[in-house]
Amino acid sequence: MELQVPLTALKGVGPAVAERLERLGLEQAGDLLFHLPLRFEDRTRLTPIAALRPGLAALFEGHVTHSEVVHRRRRMLVVTLADGQAQVLLRFFHFGANQQRRLSPGTCIRAFGEPRGMPGALECVHPEIQTVGDSPPAMESHLTPIYPTTEGVSQKLLRQLVAHALPGMQALPDLLPELPRQGLPGLHSALEQLHHPPAQADALAALDTPENRSPARTRLALEELCAHQLARMQQSRMPADTRSAPVIQPPGALWQQLRGQLPFEPTGAQERVTAEILADLARPQPMNRLVQGDVGSGKTLVAVAAALAAVEAGYQVAFMAPTELLARQHGRNLAQWMEPLGVAIAWLGGRQTASERGQLLAELASGQRQVAIGTHALFQEEVRFHHLGLAIIDEQHRFGVHQRMALRDKGNGRMPHQLIMTATPIPRTLAMALYAELASSVIDERPPGRTPVRTALISHERRDEVIERIRAACGSGTQAYWVCPLVEESEQLEAESAEATAERLREALPELTIGLAHGRMKGPERDAVMERFRAGAIDLLVATTVIEVGVDVPNASLMIIENAERMGLSQLHQLRGRVGRGSAASACVLLYRPPLGDTARERLEAMRRTDDGFEIAEVDLKLRGPGELLGTRQTGDRSFRVADWSRDQDLLDEATTLAARIEKDPARAAALIERWLGTATRYATVG
Ligand code: ADP
Ligand code: MG
Repeated sequence: MELQVPLTALKGVGPAVAERLERLGLEQAGDLLFHLPLRFEDRTRLTPIAALRPGLAALFEGHVTHSEVVHRRRRMLVVTLADGQAQVLLRFFHFGANQQRRLSPGTCIRAFGEPRGMPGALECVHPEIQTVGDSPPAMESHLTPIYPTTEGVSQKLLRQLVAHALPGMQALPDLLPELPRQGLPGLHSALEQLHHPPAQADALAALDTPENRSPARTRLALEELCAHQLARMQQSRMPADTRSAPVIQPPGALWQQLRGQLPFEPTGAQERVTAEILADLARPQPMNRLVQGDVGSGKTLVAVAAALAAVEAGYQVAFMAPTELLARQHGRNLAQWMEPLGVAIAWLGGRQTASERGQLLAELASGQRQVAIGTHALFQEEVRFHHLGLAIIDEQHRFGVHQRMALRDKGNGRMPHQLIMTATPIPRTLAMALYAELASSVIDERPPGRTPVRTALISHERRDEVIERIRAACGSGTQAYWVCPLVEESEQLEAESAEATAERLREALPELTIGLAHGRMKGPERDAVMERFRAGAIDLLVATTVIEVGVDVPNASLMIIENAERMGLSQLHQLRGRVGRGSAASACVLLYRPPLGDTARERLEAMRRTDDGFEIAEVDLKLRGPGELLGTRQTGDRSFRVADWSRDQDLLDEATTLAARIEKDPARAAALIERWLGTATRYATVG
């Protein structure tokens, strides 16, 4: 298998699938090697039904004793599976006549899935099933990797593709042969261990898990950080003219005009940070400023002030958000503030027709539209600017060297100014290492009139009490959110579990209007649900973490977060920021599944103790053991493939030392940069 071939050369990958894979940063066969599993499933042995535990995915087997199609609010197939000692319910929302027949009483079924509910009354929504005939299907010999994926790309396909590409790694030279001497595995053995781990006890000890960064992963993260360091060293030696930026120093009429129209006064912190940014823009060197401000501190207004300065001075602005949903929300806000001032905005979303999009691109290229809003798709080659002067990157603290190179390319060889906004503080050491000359501003004040949110930790066993609480709250006119667990590897599973939750809550709370929003719904459909919630027509909104961003409903003052122990602290903080926006006292219930380990308890306690995003971020960093990957669902971010901002800080010194040594060997340095930042090198040769 050639590693340089485009993925379309592989079996099962047509142009449409290739496009989806590209969203995962996968373009060539070789990219698959560095697309590492999130975790593993054990399908090497059967678990007796009596030994199934809620929340733990397992392979189990039994006979169908009962099978029935029931009609609640929706049609579903409910199957009882028993193995002589215990039984478990299987629920299917999507099923055809064939599947129904396969699941008729008497059949022996092998299922894999994550049971939920109480021990003794477990159920499993949409398990994967196999019929066990006269010759039982073989067990897996190795653990099953679960890869980060995206809509329309199944785990099965990813596994096939990786399995296909893996032998090709033999052609990859080990560029860091010094690492095996330090007790870390060589490149090939690291890749083998990560993609294809055996299930034997001794191998399990070295397994890469969310709690334990394996030597294999450490090795790759170190190599990647080293490559980024090398790229940064090269970048800082680029000729001075590629490091010049437009001087942006207009009289400020647009910003004054907007201030006159705002229904509120900017806070002191917003004023101060705006002044810092304007001073940077007036210099001929590219600004590289990070604005840190807690959820709700009003970062958008500060970004708009900067954008207005650029527009007034005759330059264009690129505004990048990490997700479609957030980009759309920004699109609305910016339009509301800027269009009355005569600023033309181009929203480059996924929903335009080709001709609409073509029109917008032409108007950006000619300079007719001054502001472009979108996701990282803004960096695609087809997006051309007339005079890009400023790039604003929102909620994206993983903006690496290669995006910066791409930006320079968009500025026609000149570097646009950059403003990076984040609600999660970046560890200082890492920021300094990866961004040259990074300046930072902090919005350390919130707009007045917010009420603090009271947070409670409640065990899943007391779910009924929580339901009563919702009944009371919604009965007296407030609205509530129920946030369903994150299922990192599959939006599909996440959506199904949210559907099941909504179904159960509808049974428990028949008097309430309950809405559902998840990532698998079509945009307009989800928008309609959100709109009904905003308008008060929905009492309780059951949602996946899609509501983390982009929802602003002041009347919603109660939030329940299920399986809170599985989420990252900054994510919990973002979610909780959705309540406490009105004047009513708000509450947040963190539902967890016992038993809670010490670290998990300490993390959730921190959520209860403080509402300060910066303090929470500090606790998060302190408590995250190496390797902990909670709540880091990748949102179109591609600055690192393997390394992680907070988890791998401890590797930074070593990566720097390695890079300094390797720099003296230009061929090796170039090969490392090419391997890890392939696209960046392409851009670098353009300059
Ligand atoms: P974040 O920092 O989380 O991005 P936003 O920019 O979305 O915060 O602002 C949150 C909300 O606060 C928005 O509805 C915004 O219009 C409002 N807001 C921003 N600045 C102020 C202010 N100075 N006074 C009152 N409300 C403000
Ligand atoms: Mg924001």
